[in-house]
Amino acid sequence: MNKQTVAGLDIGGTKIAVALADTDGNVISHTRFDTRVELGPHRILDRAIEEIERMRDDTGTRLVALGVGCGGPLDRARGLILSPPNLPDWDEFPIIEIIEKRLGIPAVLDNDANAAALGEFNYGAGRGMHNIVYITISTGIGGGIIINDQIFHGVNDGAGEVGHITVLTDGPMCGCGARGCLEAICSGTSIARRARERLLAGTQSSITTMAGEINAVTAKVVAEAVRAGDKLAAEIWDETIYYLAVGISNTINVLAPEAVILGGGVSTAGELLIEPLRRQVQSRNTMLPPDKINILQAALGGDSGSYGALILGQSGIAPKNATKPDGSGHQ
Ligand SMILES: [Zn+2]
Repeated sequence: MNKQTVAGLDIGGTKIAVALADTDGNVISHTRFDTRVELGPHRILDRAIEEIERMRDDTGTRLVALGVGCGGPLDRARGLILSPPNLPDWDEFPIIEIIEKRLGIPAVLDNDANAAALGEFNYGAGRGMHNIVYITISTGIGGGIIINDQIFHGVNDGAGEVGHITVLTDGPMCGCGARGCLEAICSGTSIARRARERLLAGTQSSITTMAGEINAVTAKVVAEAVRAGDKLAAEIWDETIYYLAVGISNTINVLAPEAVILGGGVSTAGELLIEPLRRQVQSRNTMLPPDKINILQAALGGDSGSYGALILGQSGIAPKNATKPDGSGHQ
């Protein structure tokens, strides 16, 4: 009989990642391709399923389960994607039903940040730990909390929204409708917006030249300008670290995780971000000794989500040993 495998599918607004592992969790194949959002949900999912079938056939294995990570909002219990901002036309899209019918195997859905948290927890920076907080800092800021080896979903799957912790009570409006959320100041989009505002107000900086024009300024350009010694970029970066430290300190005070793991595009700045952040969080958190405060960069880059989705897939066939996706029992 063919070896059994589980697939993990991570659907993002720009990239789709797929991983295939044996039932012990050893990854045997993985790939990534562009999402091409303009194709709409059905054709995008068709393409992903074809890719999974190709990987299954190339490895000569028998697929027995699949996990899916996707940007929210979504209805995990009903297996529906509910209009994520980065996936236009995915309105009440019954992704789990379609996959289960097409492939004839059980499929499990969770949001992309929870999937990425599971990926880092099982394969990346959180290996060997039992309690972690994963935070992705990219266009937005998302989070996933793992407590005692399980994703903590909370009421209405609302847990882990680290991006919407208030860090500045009268701060800028956030997409969620509140003011001064961490995401409204420190996401990649917000870092770029703050830089553009100061440039438009007339502050001199090499950021504009590096980006080509003000509208092309991104968080990545700001980070590059920090390394090049630009004064405005350094100010924006320091503010970003200050507010991230506030948000992460609050999170640590509540959960005391073994590590806070940072993923997403902004985290690729590496030690430029992590070193000062670690220092500030350690000096803010007086309730824990500094050596118990771990802030780590994610280890898997763009593969955290698909590797974590593998674990979701596993949970569909071995619920005793993994996250319980139906919300029953211990969360
Ligand atoms: Zn918010």
